[in-house]
Amino acid sequence: MSDCIFCKIVAGEIPSTKVAENEHAIAFHDINPEQPVHILAVPKQHFSNVSDLALNDSGITAEFMRFVAEVAAEQTNGHYRLQFNTGAAAGQTVFHVHGHILSQSSKGSIA
Ligand code: 5GP
Ligand code: ZN
Repeated sequence: MSDCIFCKIVAGEIPSTKVAENEHAIAFHDINPEQPVHILAVPKQHFSNVSDLALNDSGITAEFMRFVAEVAAEQTNGHYRLQFNTGAAAGQTVFHVHGHILSQSSKGSIA
């Protein structure tokens, strides 16, 4: 979608501090971190939220969850929250599905 900020990050039109990328997804640091580790995992294809993704493409959903697990294993100490805000009233502000990977500790730290 041409007016979507995360589509622009996926396309490299807006810079981001990328931590991982594969064929279907990217992960980058949140611009306004709420915890010591705050990474956004984003499928490259545009879906408006996690329900839109899960209900329409089980293949990308499964691939995406594997990607999240790999990023969390690499970037956290294994203790993390995965959060999908879904709908404006639930706090969603960017309407391109993204999982917040939130952790108090990066890899190697004590939980
Ligand atoms: P939501 O509230 O939609 O679940 O989360 C959107 C998240 O995207 C917020 O945590 C916000 O800080 C982050 N964000 C918004 N714009 C940008 C941006 O241009 N770059 C990065 N890295 N993060 C962004
Ligand atoms: Zn998008």
